[in-house]
Amino acid sequence: MRNTYVTPAPSVIIDLSPIAMLKGEASWKWVEKVEQAWREQQDPLAKFYGVADNSLWHRFLEDSDDRRSLNDWKRRKIARSVSWADPEVVEIANHFQEAVILTTDLYRDLRGDHPWLQGTDRVWAPVLVGDVISFQQLDYSPITDYEISLHKEESDLTPKGLRSSEARDALTLEWRCANTTCRWSKSNLIEEDPAFQDGKVVCPSCRNPAIQIGPRRRTKEVVLLLEGAEVDRLPIPEGSVLTVGRGRGVGRYDVREILNENDANRFSRDHLKLTNIGGRIVVEDLDSKNGTQIMKEDRLPSSILASVQEFLEPNVLLVPAGGSLSIRLSGKRRPRGTYEPDLATPPFLREEAN
Ligand SMILES: [Zn+2]
Repeated sequence: MRNTYVTPAPSVIIDLSPIAMLKGEASWKWVEKVEQAWREQQDPLAKFYGVADNSLWHRFLEDSDDRRSLNDWKRRKIARSVSWADPEVVEIANHFQEAVILTTDLYRDLRGDHPWLQGTDRVWAPVLVGDVISFQQLDYSPITDYEISLHKEESDLTPKGLRSSEARDALTLEWRCANTTCRWSKSNLIEEDPAFQDGKVVCPSCRNPAIQIGPRRRTKEVVLLLEGAEVDRLPIPEGSVLTVGRGRGVGRYDVREILNENDANRFSRDHLKLTNIGGRIVVEDLDSKNGTQIMKEDRLPSSILASVQEFLEPNVLLVPAGGSLSIRLSGKRRPRGTYEPDLATPPFLREEAN
């Protein structure tokens, strides 16, 4: 199994978004309550691993305890955030056969790719009665191939009522939101499927007209790893820039969210720039104080990234500021709806966890 660097082996894999939104509004307190209830009722020694949709981060308020708690899980390497959590949850569960999944989802659209889900007794949902959480095994009775393809088609092509061919075309493109009061205006792109209203593509969150960026097939993803463990996976649409450093804002990855103060201070404010040009990622060190190392698949010899642009190759690991954070290209296509396995993970990262 590729792309699963998770230690120690989890016994409970949490689909963080539906759990945090157990009562609608996103709140980390539900994750904590569910964790506590599981320990009390099922297994006091349970080892949790969480997978969040990137959209969950944007649902939490800036500077909130919710965000800090999610960061804390990432720092402890017991959570990661990706564009679309569902297939990631299932992949990790496929790898750790002893683990159960906590979610409210039936993953019907994923059963074709993961037949073991059919009839499985490994999936549990928290049930809230008053203030008390209990757990109930979800009914994963096998569904027919027809139902699977129907749900797959729904998740691929017809979310949020997009039914006309014109609307379906909207799903081949990336969109962003410019409404500054909307959570998606803080991001390079809307990491949910767009909605369609009165003949226009609109932001699924604020319903303002969405702005077209580029074709989805040219979106590339980068993976950020903390001491070798995946913590974040970020899409960079064509024509967009991701700046890594000590600063926040649209199109930036703020290392202070994930690193301790010492490690973060080794970064320059604008340390490293990743730009999607025509579907390829171009990388450039921005004259940073501590530089960026390029580690090849064979691990030797590593070189220093110059302040001239070069293409980021799939077999390369970028190590900025000689620290604990590293960055590589993901082989996944824009995963939502067009899920494909990550074939570009360098073999040296395909370590098996125990
Ligand atoms: Zn919006």
